[in-house]
Amino acid sequence: MKDGQVPARDERAERIAGFIAPLRVEPGSKVDLSRDFDPAHKAGIGSKREGQELLRGGVLLLADLQRRLAAQGTHGVLLCLQALDAGGKDGTIRHVMSGVNPQGVRVTNFKVPSAEELSHDYLWRYTCGLPRRGEIGIFNRSHYEEVLVVRVHPELLARQRLPGRGTGKKAFWRRRYQEINDWERYLTDNGFSVVKLFLNLSREEQRVRFLKRIDVPERNWKFSAADARERTYWDAYQAAFSEMLSATSTAWAPWYVVPADRKWFARTCAAAVLANALIDIGPSYPDVGADARHELELARKQLEGEAP
Ligand code: ATP
Ligand code: MG
Repeated sequence: MKDGQVPARDERAERIAGFIAPLRVEPGSKVDLSRDFDPAHKAGIGSKREGQELLRGGVLLLADLQRRLAAQGTHGVLLCLQALDAGGKDGTIRHVMSGVNPQGVRVTNFKVPSAEELSHDYLWRYTCGLPRRGEIGIFNRSHYEEVLVVRVHPELLARQRLPGRGTGKKAFWRRRYQEINDWERYLTDNGFSVVKLFLNLSREEQRVRFLKRIDVPERNWKFSAADARERTYWDAYQAAFSEMLSATSTAWAPWYVVPADRKWFARTCAAAVLANALIDIGPSYPDVGADARHELELARKQLEGEAP
């Protein structure tokens, strides 16, 4: 191994891969969220303190990997975060990226599409938020809203002014999953890893977090009546998430279902999944060639000659 390079798979990398393996949705498997994943799972980590310690290590590791990613400039990473309201997307981004150089990260939020966005094909606005080579792009909500909120509320589909018949039927959603899989395949083939996290919150924990947003004045701004309304569609969302996870967890862009009832555990998992993707890329500082080294030496002589 050359000096300054991250080993492709050291002991820590193996530990991280082992830690996140149970969160991964096996491509081709049929997911039933209510049966297959426990939102309160904590993988045998004894205490919040222990989890936070792990997260601190993860944050440092991410900072180092991101510096290499930026220096190498050949690959990018797209981190997609999906969750129901109060699932912890914002806090996850804040904590997991806390050590990373902000210049190397671009975060995009996706809300109800604008008229301009609706006048394009449905993936257009997501393309506009993609990272450059050397960057980590974060989607706070993502193209998956197109098979989640739009699926749960078919009237949103009408606003997309799609041509043809059969819109909203089963075959239509199958095609949409396929288009998303193909788009992600295209991105990964071109050097952009697609990392997908679903923060899996229980219904009870969502209730508790909503109440907190209502009770604590500093958190009031985080709550809207629409959130409570959306909660009444809980079962429809669980079904849409289950089907989405089954249809779009692929070998090139698998889903990770992150237990989200404990914020500290969700953040630790998110850091681990992101670190794993960066380790897979194995970014390293570019090797300085003989010519460039010669120029460095000339520059050193000139600078040393200026010494007071
Ligand atoms: P926060 O509440 O933490 O500020 P948020 O992501 O929940 O963040 P909101 O403005 O509350 O932001 O909600 C955005 C809304 O936009 C969500 O209800 C989401 O489902 C909806 N949305 C996102 N993408 C689409 C889409 N393509 N079509 C219709 N609605 C969408
Ligand atoms: Mg919201």
